[in-house]
Amino acid sequence: MMLGGAAALSRPRKITANRAAGLLHVEWADGHNSRYSLEWLRAHCPCATCREERIKASTDPLRLFTGALPSAELIGAEGVGNYAIRLDWADGHNTGIYPYSALRRSCPCVACNPNGPPPILAD
Ligand SMILES: [Zn+2]
Ligand SMILES: [Zn+2]
Repeated sequence: MMLGGAAALSRPRKITANRAAGLLHVEWADGHNSRYSLEWLRAHCPCATCREERIKASTDPLRLFTGALPSAELIGAEGVGNYAIRLDWADGHNTGIYPYSALRRSCPCVACNPNGPPPILAD
C-alpha cells in the first residue's frame, strides 16, 4: 500500500493502447510516461495460470511449447477498482490483472530500470 506523495507514482492519468506499434502507453499522475510492449505484458501476465506456466518452463529447460503461442494482440482493457487494469487478449485470455503499482515498478524506461524492467509482481 502506497501512502501520501508516493500515490501519484502509481496512479495513471491516461492509458492508451497503440495496437499498430504494439505498445501500451501509461501517463502517470506525476507526469512520468511508461511505454510497455504488449508482448512483454503478455509474457508477464500475472494471472495464476500464466505464473504456473512460467514456473514449469523455468524448472524444465527442455519443456517445449505444445499449444499455440499466447497472443500479444490486445483487444480490450478495463480498470479494476482504481488500483489495476485487466487486459483482454485476442486469444480469449483475460484473467491477468496488472496492478498500477507493479506496472510503475516495472516501467521499461532507462531512468526507472537501467538494467531492464523487473517482472510484474502482482502480490
Ligand atoms: Zn495469464
Ligand atoms: Zn520510467
